Amino acid sequence: MWSIRWLVAAVVVGGVAATKEDIKAADSWLAIEHCSVFDTESGQMLPDRTIVVRDSVIDRVTPAGEAGPIPPEAQRIDGRGKFVIPGLIDAHVHVVHVLDFAHVTGDEVLPLYLAAGVTSIRSTGDEPVAATLVARVAVAQPASSPRVFTCSPLLDADPPIHRDVGRAVTDPAQVPALFADLAQWDVRTIKIYAGTARPVGRAIIEEGHRRGLFVTAHLGAYSPQEAVADGVDGLEHIWSVFNYIIPPDVPRVPGHRGRLDLNTPQCDALIAELVKHKTYVDPTLAVFRNMILLPDVPEVRDHPDNAPVPARLKEFWPKYLLQTGCPQGGALDDRRREFAKFQELTGKLYRAGVPLLAGTDSPEPLVPPGYSLHQELQMLVESGLPPAAALRAATLNNATVLGEKDRLGSIAAGKLADLVLLTANPLEDIQNTRRIERVIRGGLVCDPAELLKRVPQK
Ligand SMILES: [Zn+2]
Repeated sequence: MWSIRWLVAAVVVGGVAATKEDIKAADSWLAIEHCSVFDTESGQMLPDRTIVVRDSVIDRVTPAGEAGPIPPEAQRIDGRGKFVIPGLIDAHVHVVHVLDFAHVTGDEVLPLYLAAGVTSIRSTGDEPVAATLVARVAVAQPASSPRVFTCSPLLDADPPIHRDVGRAVTDPAQVPALFADLAQWDVRTIKIYAGTARPVGRAIIEEGHRRGLFVTAHLGAYSPQEAVADGVDGLEHIWSVFNYIIPPDVPRVPGHRGRLDLNTPQCDALIAELVKHKTYVDPTLAVFRNMILLPDVPEVRDHPDNAPVPARLKEFWPKYLLQTGCPQGGALDDRRREFAKFQELTGKLYRAGVPLLAGTDSPEPLVPPGYSLHQELQMLVESGLPPAAALRAATLNNATVLGEKDRLGSIAAGKLADLVLLTANPLEDIQNTRRIERVIRGGLVCDPAELLKRVPQK
């Protein structure tokens, strides 16, 4: 499904030769017949549909009896008893940071995402040269890579918290030149980081919007009340909300967070502002549970999702936990209570109408590339989202913040054929998103077991 035009583009833009199995002839057809199709807009599973794909694009989605003629050379998949969802998108990934410490290059973990049905990833703060190279490998090797959308470095105070992927911006007057530089890297997301103060943050938001870019923030010095009023588009991590609903008189002792009352006027007022400004929140529950709060719990530490991760990364994770002082938050019971509060707040945000994203912060310790998004979906459902809403977060909402909702995020004629074929209904049990038979990326049909063989085990 990779036309000659795109092949040329891949080789020239990518700079990395595509392998033979990445390439299919132009004008190839695929039909998935008699399948159930998840309609992202309505949240319904539509029975007995046929999806026809031409090259990399969905040509039509119709009731099975109305699909019209399908070219005889088309690859046909019997979809009876199968459920098709849009390709999943992970809204919070790093393709350089952490991997570089473990001496793993981002391209090595790309097949892990695709094997898990994650057909696009949103990088959220990396060193642009290396991140661009990883994105180019993804273009050149579509049969083993998700689409990679890159981000600015972490725009931070001086010195930046993360010196490897941060960039100091201390004066609003520096912002126009910074954006002129970033424009050459085709970044889709601008990320404000924890040390940034309000004047610089506001200048970044204004310049980002002038250039049509999504501006997101991992907050610290800049409060969400200020950032939301200034027009920030999204907040990374549930902490960027949670940390600002704690009244100043609450004692900061281990365990206090898990005992907070979220039904307070301060909390409701902040949530009302998020709703009013339609500010996206990306809770990244996976990194809070797996890395920050509960990395010592055997179900997390020894989770089977970690098995296919390259050994260099798995061996590095415990060292990085030590360096970063994780687990944080005191005794195990206190940490469990704190995590429950993060989930409670996530449910409150959803019920109030705050638009949510689904991201993971992979490959931070114990947050495995790809499979952690299924953990995130499960934790979102545990937090109170219906399965259809969790799926919408991981597809259409995530596509929207990438500026890609016309091409990605739902299954409709004219959209890119990024699909996941499941053997069980995820609306009945969100864990059924793991029952992946095939992943289709731009019309290329991929076998998850074969993709895992492309991940180095050393
Ligand atoms: Zn991150």
